[in-house]
Amino acid sequence: MALLDLQRSSTPTPDSEREAALADPGFGRFYTDHMAVVNFTEGRGWENPRIVPTANFTLHPAAAVLHYGQEIFEGLKAYRHDDDSVWLFRPERNARRFVGSAQRLQMAPLPEELFLASVMELVDLERVWVPENSNEQSLYIRPFQIADEPYLGVREAKQYLYSVLATPAGAYYPDPVKLWITPNYTRAAAGGTGTAKCGGNYAASLAAAVEAQQHGCGQVLYTDGAEHKWLEECGTMNFMMITADDELLTPALGTILEGVTRDSILTLAPEHGLTPVQRPISVDELREGLASGHITEAFACGTAAVITPIVGFNSPEHGEEAVGDGTPGARTQQLRQHLLDIQYGRAADRHGWLRRV
Ligand code: PMP
Repeated sequence: MALLDLQRSSTPTPDSEREAALADPGFGRFYTDHMAVVNFTEGRGWENPRIVPTANFTLHPAAAVLHYGQEIFEGLKAYRHDDDSVWLFRPERNARRFVGSAQRLQMAPLPEELFLASVMELVDLERVWVPENSNEQSLYIRPFQIADEPYLGVREAKQYLYSVLATPAGAYYPDPVKLWITPNYTRAAAGGTGTAKCGGNYAASLAAAVEAQQHGCGQVLYTDGAEHKWLEECGTMNFMMITADDELLTPALGTILEGVTRDSILTLAPEHGLTPVQRPISVDELREGLASGHITEAFACGTAAVITPIVGFNSPEHGEEAVGDGTPGARTQQLRQHLLDIQYGRAADRHGWLRRV
């Protein structure tokens, strides 16, 4: 039984247009014909869950999100398998993280069943928008929540809008990148919003991303806000390293986002002869490990690119430092392929991560 009411679009994208879009979807260029919407009002709770034609929202100019940034979001993908079935990867982790983000931003938490139903029912309706199982294509799903109460005082809003968009995503082969270790910006501080997936974190990351590009780096590697001593994560990915004694090392949770990909790779590590270790890792330890050869590989991980190989670092203090011989590591590639094979139904799903739509 569907949890969301359905109001079908009377002008869905013609098949030929959709097929043309799916032939070269890029990312975020095309949207499915429908979106999910649920409203929250204090005293009444979450109501009117529905799937409606994708269209503009009407917001009062005083809507709290436009002024104080009460906004959270999630990102996950639907994958088509060779038998044409469509699957989600660990969506319950995103549902749980969404609740955690809401709590940190003092927003009404969306019940996890409603998150899962909204994603499942939208993808089910829009399954023709899930690209073919080739070249790592997928349907990217973007649940988000904003404070749409028109009120200019600074306090938590009493009214929220939750919605889910879906956009086909094309093949994405990540280029190996260098990371910029910035001394000028921090992403999160103890007690801040680093563990929440809120829009403000990403707005605050843009200046650092430009700084990274100016120094020949594809991404930022953030360090802690107090001392710039401890490694944290990249702007939209978690950070990991492989050592000569077969450890898969990653910064401990605390001020970083708890990535679904991070957890999945830590879980798969033993199958690749790697011992997963989560602990504080200092910039000095990274430097010494690179110089001595103890650190053999490094990569960043997240839903969008799965794994992006890291081939070097740059910073004002120490300049350029390469990882190994400066090319993507073999075990990094194996981990990436393994996770993709599970997601696309080519490898055994031993951990029960896939949910059929
Ligand atoms: N860190 C940050 C800051 C991110 O935005 C993301 C992307 N959601 C990640 C890590 C990776 O998380 P996930 O594996 O769940 O996509």
